[in-house]
Amino acid sequence: MKLILLGAPGAGKGTVAKLLSAIDGSVQISTGDILRGEVQAGSDLGRQAEEYMKKGDLVPDSLIMGIMEKRLQAPDCAKGFLLDGFPRTIPQARALKELMARLDITLDMVVNIDVSRDVLLDRLTTRRTCVNPACQAIYNIKSNPPQKDGICNKCGSPVVQRDDETAEAINHRLETYNQKTAPLIGFYQEDGMFHNITGATSDIVVNAIKSELGM
Ligand code: ADP
Ligand code: ZN
Repeated sequence: MKLILLGAPGAGKGTVAKLLSAIDGSVQISTGDILRGEVQAGSDLGRQAEEYMKKGDLVPDSLIMGIMEKRLQAPDCAKGFLLDGFPRTIPQARALKELMARLDITLDMVVNIDVSRDVLLDRLTTRRTCVNPACQAIYNIKSNPPQKDGICNKCGSPVVQRDDETAEAINHRLETYNQKTAPLIGFYQEDGMFHNITGATSDIVVNAIKSELGM
């Protein structure tokens, strides 16, 4: 399947992408994960992105499009992909449309995962992430804590609160989402592939997507 997953920070895009990926082997492409990997690795790209990310600001469109142009041409995308956290701005959506036309890629659907602000805030402040760039497992101190306090179940690396998950940065990310990303809903509503799904839980969202796709 070839999907764009839209939704505010904390809507569960990453969790839904992982569940969908397990169904048919479509790859999850998270620009946030890719960028955090580059920051950890200390690459040029990582150094350019780091300051924006810490503050909860968006990384410039040109950097993101450079990443995605390469990523979408990797052989593992042929089967299918789940775009998680991209596109994030109208210029990115326009550039993606042009890129897909050029690469002869057709999307199946654009899904907006719709979650109330209260739920978003609660999820974001209790979220913890594995620091290992190759793992990046996500936990929640209330609903899904690691078995050993602060240690990743999967790889044993420390599990921490991300720099951009302080209360201040979270508010800023939600504001950025409302200003820059929410307008993508209108953009995609115009082309008929758009589906809004109210995301009480990730399982409900996944089942709704499967039934839309006739799976
Ligand atoms: P979340 O969806 O939880 O806010 P992500 O992991 O998707 O977090 O992204 C973390 C940060 O990486 C963002 O706050 C932003 O700085 C940067 N980022 C990720 N994807 C994009 C994108 N498509 N465009 C611009 N910046 C991005
Ligand atoms: Zn881990």
